[in-house]
Amino acid sequence: MRTIGIIGGMSWYSTAEYYRVLNTAVQERLGGHHSAHVLLESLDFAAVRELQLADDWDGAGELLAAAGRRLEAAGADAVLIATNLMHKVAPAVEAAIGVPLLHIADAVAGVATAAGHRTLGVVGTRWVMAETFYADRLARHGIGALVPSAAEQEEVDRIIFDELTQGEVREDSRARLLAVVDGLRAAGADAVVLACTELELALPAAGGPVPLVDSARVHALAAAEHALAEAPVASPAPDLVSTGGADA
Ligand code: GLU
Repeated sequence: MRTIGIIGGMSWYSTAEYYRVLNTAVQERLGGHHSAHVLLESLDFAAVRELQLADDWDGAGELLAAAGRRLEAAGADAVLIATNLMHKVAPAVEAAIGVPLLHIADAVAGVATAAGHRTLGVVGTRWVMAETFYADRLARHGIGALVPSAAEQEEVDRIIFDELTQGEVREDSRARLLAVVDGLRAAGADAVVLACTELELALPAAGGPVPLVDSARVHALAAAEHALAEAPVASPAPDLVSTGGADA
């Protein structure tokens, strides 16, 4: 099994979810006491947030690249940046390491394509919605992106940073986020990507009328797939084994 290195802590609420999803996937596949081999570089989010607000993306790139190098030195076979926004500095991290960086938008596009979606509504932090680095990566896979209005972008960004990344989930904010999701669907999105790893705290991906792609979950599952690529396949469950009966 390959070792997965996570650059996390942005925020720690969603990094905890990555850890849970990754370990669940590995245990489901290998059974028994198996769990993922994970290395975690959990950054102090206050330092990251300061760099964001100062628009110091070179500094943020250096901070994350140093974390990536430490993960590689410790034995990571692949690295994840456990946030959508900080993929803005993915090129700096990629250039600093000699192992693959598993990009979150590639994982999102893979799941969207498999589900037959061609156009995704994108809900996340203001940079993810207003800039093109995220949509461009989706476009590489033939997926189009729709974003909310400028006023909605401001509101979603506020909910993320004033509430969700600090662990607060409010009912009124949930309702506002749902209205944004519905608006994107009405504007022509086949599905909406929760392109902020904390959004799932407010909008669980299952059950609503609009199909949602939870970026944290699909990214962690892509990492599990990478970790298990060379692992043995567990024996099939008994009810999947052909009995050699009538249809054999
Ligand atoms: N976790 C969020 C994201 O997926 C935003 C927090 C951050 O990385 O600044 O974009």
